[in-house]
Amino acid sequence: MPQIHLEDTIVAVSTPPGEGGIGVVRISGPNAIQIGSTMFRKKDLHASSLEEAQSHTVHYGAIIDQNENVIDHVLVSVFRKPKSYTAEDIIEISGHGGARVIQKILELALSLGARHAEPGEFTRRAFLNGRMDLTQAEAVLDLIRAKTDKSVEVALRQLSGTLSNEIQTIKNQLMKIYAHLEAYLDFPDEHLEIYSNQDFKLQFEQIIGRLKTLIASFKKGEILREGASVVLCGKPNVGKSSLLNVLLDRDRALVSEVPGTTRDILEESVELEGIWVRLIDTAGLWKSQNSLDQAAMERTKRYFEQGDLFLWVLDSQTGLLEEDLKIFETIQNKKTIAVLNKIDLGKKNSNGLGKYLADDHICFVSAKTRDGIKQLEKKIVQLILEHELGQESVLITRLRHKHALEHSLDALEKSFAAFLKNESLELIALDLKQSLGALKELVGEIYSEDLLDVIFQEFCIGK
Ligand code: GDP
Repeated sequence: MPQIHLEDTIVAVSTPPGEGGIGVVRISGPNAIQIGSTMFRKKDLHASSLEEAQSHTVHYGAIIDQNENVIDHVLVSVFRKPKSYTAEDIIEISGHGGARVIQKILELALSLGARHAEPGEFTRRAFLNGRMDLTQAEAVLDLIRAKTDKSVEVALRQLSGTLSNEIQTIKNQLMKIYAHLEAYLDFPDEHLEIYSNQDFKLQFEQIIGRLKTLIASFKKGEILREGASVVLCGKPNVGKSSLLNVLLDRDRALVSEVPGTTRDILEESVELEGIWVRLIDTAGLWKSQNSLDQAAMERTKRYFEQGDLFLWVLDSQTGLLEEDLKIFETIQNKKTIAVLNKIDLGKKNSNGLGKYLADDHICFVSAKTRDGIKQLEKKIVQLILEHELGQESVLITRLRHKHALEHSLDALEKSFAAFLKNESLELIALDLKQSLGALKELVGEIYSEDLLDVIFQEFCIGK
């Protein structure tokens, strides 16, 4: 992305391409109101002028081109800095949603001196102008992309600053220790009031605990933001594909009477109880050793590594067999539910399973009659999340956050170790500063243009 010049005025269509109920053109920057005013006439087509319009007001009128021809009848919203999305002056023109009309309004704004906005530039400006920190800017993207109620909830919480506040609290605690160390280093002879060693120790331990809690929240945060992988495995003909269909609520996988029909790996996504779940059917794994199956096997192994939860499907009529155990061996130590399928045929044989899985990890279902499917769905979500998301809990949702927190923790633990060994205060302070630096990077107090490019290029134009 080219260097962002905040003195530019930018413009973009903020609604999706194509026909719509309305189309919105957004202009932001120092000349936004002047450009908007030049394009706009009130209903009677007499003088505009938006120049005197108050912030947060809406005006009905027309957009006219340089020859005073009407392009569209519109509503124009005026937001004056700093209380706008970007903290700059903003004009939002809501026109009739025709693609050509909206394009003409955009072109008019360009001809009057605005330039095309880069992807995500409105939000990038909001960040650069201090309207939000980097984790909040990321939450804007998460919110737009959110596919389930839970992912909306997590994004909204991050957008409202829960993560920012937690990081700020940790930073303040670190700064307090750092300031005392610095003061002690600067004026060693003045006997400044400084924490007793015990106080310092407690502070260190507390902050380390907070950082660890945040890092540990990543798995859950990532699942809520991006969804979880649930892998179906089991010997041929136990009903994996049928189960996949039932969980997806439609006919996607091929179901047949001949064992081993599903040739390859199938992946489909579905919302279960507010969580986005990728269901992966690995039926190809347990068949003959021809080359196609070898390739499928390699891929299956990769899926096995990534799986958040495994559905080990068995036939409830035969119960546990040697072949089933062979499959279980490959998923040992993974989060697993044994799904005993085909209970409509009469038996519920779970003999011997208790040796391998606890009772609450065993489900009886019929893919044919849907008996037990609702309970299975609930169990899947319960095991994915382990326990419900508390209102108060702060989650991290991105690898970038996790890495920054790990850097911070690493430096802090070094600093603490040096402190416990009564090493020089300079050394303790140095690592402490690094720990602080990593947190500043997390919220974007320190950033590089490259990092911003990576984050904002995922956005659409106009956001
Ligand atoms: P896969 O090889 O594990 O994917 O198994 P399929 O889903 O292809 O099913 C194999 C056979 O079992 C098919 O004939 C299905 O109709 C049948 N089947 C699957 N689930 C059930 C069930 O719950 N009850 C009964 N009676 N038959 C089932």
